[in-house]
Parts: sequence; structure tokens; C-alpha cells
Amino acid sequence: MAVLEQVTSQQAIELEDKYGAHNYHPLPVVLSKGEGVYVWDVEGKKYYDFLSAYSAVNQGHCHPKIVGAMVAQAQTLTLTSRAFYNDMLGKYEKYATELFGFDKLLPMNTGAEAVETALKLCRKWAYEVKGLAENDAQIVVCENNFHGRTTTIISFSNDPVARKNFGPFTNGFIKIAYDDLEVLEETLKNNKNIAGFMAEPIQGEAGVYVPQEGYLAGAKALCEKYNVLFIADEVQTGIARTGKMVAVDHENVKPDILILGKALSGGAYPVSAVLANNNIMNVIKPGNHGSTFGGNPIAAAVAIAALEVVREEKLAENAEVLGQLFREEMSKYIADSNIVSLVRGKGLLNAIVINDSEESNTAWNICLRLRDNGLLAKPTHGNIIRFAPPLVMNKEQLLDCVSIIVKTLKEFEK
Ligand SMILES: *Cc1c(COP(=O)(O)O)cnc(C)c1O
Repeated sequence: MAVLEQVTSQQAIELEDKYGAHNYHPLPVVLSKGEGVYVWDVEGKKYYDFLSAYSAVNQGHCHPKIVGAMVAQAQTLTLTSRAFYNDMLGKYEKYATELFGFDKLLPMNTGAEAVETALKLCRKWAYEVKGLAENDAQIVVCENNFHGRTTTIISFSNDPVARKNFGPFTNGFIKIAYDDLEVLEETLKNNKNIAGFMAEPIQGEAGVYVPQEGYLAGAKALCEKYNVLFIADEVQTGIARTGKMVAVDHENVKPDILILGKALSGGAYPVSAVLANNNIMNVIKPGNHGSTFGGNPIAAAVAIAALEVVREEKLAENAEVLGQLFREEMSKYIADSNIVSLVRGKGLLNAIVINDSEESNTAWNICLRLRDNGLLAKPTHGNIIRFAPPLVMNKEQLLDCVSIIVKTLKEFEK
């Protein structure tokens, strides 16, 4: 088969199976086109995308403004490395720091790299500003976290599948319960060597676990009290997904270090970033950290366009309104359902919990049936299905999606 020849879905799956590492278990659907809230498979069947590439495609598939910025920049200058200046990076850094309210931005590519960057920054701050003795710094993280896949990041994961046989691991992390301010205070009070506390404002991969109201503000206050940096991993919750530009805005919290990724590019290109004020970011000096592609001109052009789309199209406001509607409509159904026990979330980051064990394949089978009925979603864990459509969805489309989901779930009622 010629490389550029059109393949069938079956052929595409066989190719990946034979020539690709098996590090994912995709839902069997082969996509070849996307536009707005829709994607199409190789055979031309149209679906609502209810995952948005784990919230990377908040601005919708192939947004013309973002693609336009990317193509124009790709035809002009793609990569210089940071050995030289380029005429796009500074403009992007100014735009993003003003938008998010920080002094400085450090550009990276993937979410995991940005998390790594935040951890390095936090440790260096602890030694050079807070005054901890070298190699003593500890960073507090939460149980059931998801921050990416590098060796350091999986060192503080408690997902056995993500960790097994990848050791030895990186030291210097203390894991505590999520959504528990008492435990956080105990931990901060009893250990003089804590540099930072890192958390997801909503635990996405864990199953869209929303902490109690006041948790983020309380955690930030405790961090201030004990001179510890509050690091918010907003790779999934940021960029309007939860109904605010970043999820910490719901509690008017300003993290010391903000981590962004995924929808920072609208899903067009890998773009991530770490933001902080000068008193923290200035500990980073030439040679301390870097990335060949981080801050490249395409990434800068794409990120500016992607953030402009969020503002111009009022995607945070739309996510807030449609999210309320989604949970209301789903709750009406769930009241009399045996198969779904609850819906939870914020904005358009939601999940339903299936009334079956974590080991069951009910959620997977529901996702297969949703696919047949024209909507794509994926289980996170055995019994939780995440629902995160592009934020460019309108009310009519959302109600159409609710009716597809309800109709599908009814087929599974006992
Ligand atoms: C997806 C995700 C990451 C990792 O991002 P990658 O681009 O896959 O490396 C980190 N943190 C959170 C909260 C995420 O959802």
C-alpha cells in the first residue's frame, strides 16, 4: 500500500497494531477529519467529539483562526531555537502574561514538560530564595493525581499501571489526600523542608473529581502561611474548560506557579507554559533549563490565536452556561436511572459514574454504543465516563448530545 493511499478503518487499526507500540487502548474508531464540535471517520460517519483530545481542542477542531495563524507562520519561520531571538516569542509572552496576570512565562511543548519545569523552578526557588539546604526540598502532591508520564512525574503517581517496572523513581515528594485542608496543614506544619504544593484544581484523569468549595483558596492560604509555593496544574482545567479562563478563578486564587498546556494551542500544536512572577521566575538563569522547540515561532503564533479565540468567542461563559444545562439535563435522567449513579463537574468538564464495579467493562461498552450512536467519549477508570466537548458547542448541539447519551444509557438499563 502506498503511504498516502486512503486506508479503511480496519487497515488503519491493523497498521497501528503491527507497527506502533501498544501504549494506548483506543476506542475502535479511526478519525480522518474534524471541524468545530464534529469529527468524521475514514468511512465518512460523523460524530460529536465529547472528549476534545482530553480538553486540548477547547476551541473546536481546525479552528480557522488558529490554523490560519499556524499556516502563515509555518510559511515564514518555523524554528530558530533559543540560541537566537525570534520576533514572535516576546509578543506571545507579553500577551499571555498580561492575560493571566503574571510577570513572566517559560515556554515548553507538552504538559509533562511544563510540570517538570514547574517542579524544577519550585525546588530552585526553595534553595535560592526560601533558603532550604540543597537536596532537602520536598514537594507535596495529591493522591490520585495525574500530571503526565515522565519518570519524575510517575514517581509520585499512585497508578500502579503507570509505575510498574519503571523505577528507580525520583525522591522528594510527599503524597497527601486531595481535598483535605487539615491533612495539608498538618503536613506543612510538621515539615520545614517543603518547597511547594502542587494540585489539579479538579482531578481530571482521576474521574473529574471536584474538590469542595473553598479548597483551593484554603490551600493557597496555607501555602502563604508556611511560605510554600502553590502550584496549579491547569493543563486540563485551564483555557476556559471549567467556565473560567483558569479553574482557580472560581475561587479568586492566584497560584504562585501556573501550568498550562493542551488547549493553550487549541489542539493545533504542542504548546505548554509555566507562568510565575519575577521573585520566583528570576531564579532561572541561562543554561539552567530549556527546550529546542519551546517558544518556537509557530507555537507563539498558534498560542496567541488560540487565546484570542477563547476571548473573542466567550468560550468560558459558554462553558459555564452549557455545563449547567448539561448537568441539569443529565440529573433529570439519573434520578430514575439504575445504570448511572451521578453526574459531576464544572463548566464543560464533566463525568458520569456508572453503577458498576471499576473492573467491569460496562463504561467501555457504553462508549462503544455511544460511538455507534454518533458521539465519542472514553472511560477514565472502569466505571467513569468523562464528557468534555469542544467549548464552541451551541445549546442545540448540546441538547442533541444529551439525547444521544440518554438514549444510549437507556439501552443499558437493567
Ligand atoms: C494531560 C495532562 C498533563 C500532561 O500533558 P501532556 O501534554 O500529555 O504531557 C499534565 N497535567 C494534567 C492535569 C493533564 O491533564
